[in-house]
Amino acid sequence: MEAREALLSRVSAPSGTKIKDPATGEVIGHVEFAHPGDVAAAVDKAVAAQPAWAARSDEERVALLLRAADNIEAHAEELAYVVSREQGKTLNGLGARFEVQACAIWLRSTANTPLPVEVLVDDGTNHAELHYRPIGVVGAITPWNWPMIIAVWQIAPSLRMGNTVVQKPSEYTTLSGLAVAEVIGEVLPAGVLTVIAGAGDVGEALVRDRRVGKVMFTGSVKTGMKVVEASAGNLSRLTLELGGNDAGIVLPDADPQAIAEGLFWGAFINNGQTCAALKRLYVADAIYDEVVDALAGMTAKIPMGVGLDEGNLLGPLQNKMQWNVVNRLVEDAKARGARIVMGGDPDPGAPGFFYPKTLVADIDNSAPLVQEEQFGPALPIIRYTDVEQAVEWANGVDVGLGASVWSADRDKAREIGVRLQAGTVWLNSHGGVDPRIPFGGAKHSGYGLEFGVDGLKAVSVPQVVSG
Ligand code: NAD
Repeated sequence: MEAREALLSRVSAPSGTKIKDPATGEVIGHVEFAHPGDVAAAVDKAVAAQPAWAARSDEERVALLLRAADNIEAHAEELAYVVSREQGKTLNGLGARFEVQACAIWLRSTANTPLPVEVLVDDGTNHAELHYRPIGVVGAITPWNWPMIIAVWQIAPSLRMGNTVVQKPSEYTTLSGLAVAEVIGEVLPAGVLTVIAGAGDVGEALVRDRRVGKVMFTGSVKTGMKVVEASAGNLSRLTLELGGNDAGIVLPDADPQAIAEGLFWGAFINNGQTCAALKRLYVADAIYDEVVDALAGMTAKIPMGVGLDEGNLLGPLQNKMQWNVVNRLVEDAKARGARIVMGGDPDPGAPGFFYPKTLVADIDNSAPLVQEEQFGPALPIIRYTDVEQAVEWANGVDVGLGASVWSADRDKAREIGVRLQAGTVWLNSHGGVDPRIPFGGAKHSGYGLEFGVDGLKAVSVPQVVSG
């Protein structure tokens, strides 16, 4: 066994459900999935460990999160190997090593973000302060696209604020969830971080458990709505990071060559399987053809293949379900007469869930490839003549996670940007996140914020002490 395989074999069960590499179909390990009835025992552990964890000083919890970050770095290649083999992303580029490094960065930043007691009033007669207290047990539920970093986004602030965590990874990327929790958990007291492997019914049981005071949920809009329903009886606090269908608007003064790389990675990061990827591109008629050509030139250069091959920058889709979604949307676009600039011709007989990098031009705004979240490597490029029309189209969907405006004139881009209904608007880039900057959705993309001081507040109970 190679050294980098050690962690995978540690978290893999001796038997159970076979887990297959999405690039090759090869069995890489096994998972023993839990049942809804097993959730209570996992929550028991978190409940038992919570008072002692909360009783530690903030300095102690910070020190442990920093040690967890060091441990992530010490096991970086093993972690990258797990997520590459299970999720399919490439080791290089914005792939597995990038995701693992982000885990360490977020753990450190979350540890180092100050959250002092706020003095609200101090007028000689009254002294009022705002403290942030632990909630208790946090239930953390993750999707399969960025299975390690999203888990860290939920776990790190929760632990910092004195909560204990029960984490349920996606059933598609359980080994990645187990691996990152194993490495973080090595430096933590028992019971502070518990992982339960399971499907949606296990997630629902976690949400329904009355002892879970807060649910951090990242996933689809449809499941987010179920989480709201299942949590109603507990009035649990919720952070919902849901799906997106991010628009990018290219203004007529943009330089097509200069923006092509940013547009490409904004859309194709992790093969488009990214919540805040650019999923609909609106381009001014005056430079439409140049932008399509520049994007096609950029797209053609990016190698796609098995994630473990050091030369590749894009891998397969993670699962057949998502492959079917992308294929359906592209086939529909073709049937509507849209122009396939490149891609759109998968080989259904080839091994793995590879879908070619696909650019679809001259597509109508009403096409499902534009209106639905494709979550894959197929970008629709829509032509506009009036920027008011582009803004209306950009805002014309139920979701609003991110959006971007591309222009040689930053102020002009900002003017348009602030009119877009999205939790984050980027100017001349798309999708970048930063642990110091809050991130969250508008409309059906969810509510609540992650990262920075807002992210810490979201996993605690505000308490006013006045007198
Ligand atoms: P999903 O909603 O199918 O599953 C997400 C998680 O919820 C999984 O762990 C799943 O087992 C669990 N789950 C399923 N049913 C449940 C229920 N009834 N109660 C509780 N948990 C349940 O999403 P997915 O397909 O894994 O992920 C892709 C989606 O996630 C995309 O829409 C993407 O845009 C979104 N996403 C959003 C963000 C963000 O930050 N806003 C980040 C990443 C992904």
